[in-house]
Amino acid sequence: MAACIFCDIAAKKIPARIAGETDQLVAFHDTRPQAPSHLLIVPRRHVAAVAELQPADADLAGRMMLFAADLAEELGLDRTGYRLVVNNGPGAGQTVAHLHLHLLGGRDLSWPPG
Ligand code: AMP
Ligand code: ZN
Repeated sequence: MAACIFCDIAAKKIPARIAGETDQLVAFHDTRPQAPSHLLIVPRRHVAAVAELQPADADLAGRMMLFAADLAEELGLDRTGYRLVVNNGPGAGQTVAHLHLHLLGGRDLSWPPG
């Protein structure tokens, strides 16, 4: 497989501001935050995009959401609201081909997103 920056972060081969970890997932701060709180939640295992998820990944996908909710609570975002975003494909703004859930909060978030 070609080099993958999020695989390398999950494997601690390159540094990141880690916000939390589980056996299957790693959360770290986005280097170009789009909100006062902006975390990325990624599976340790390489999955290129949400469109690549298989039925056998249902537990993993659910755990990403549950972990995001836990992290949001830790950051106090559950009191003010937060947003979870998954970009799928370049047309939707996916720039890193390793599945990641954006957790954004700490400011007013308009709707619809751009
Ligand atoms: P997306 O555009 O949905 O693919 O999101 C990729 C995100 O990864 C962007 O918000 C980038 O700022 C972020 N990003 C890229 N490289 C790194 C890195 N080394 N550490 C943390 N965040 C990164
Ligand atoms: Zn990867």
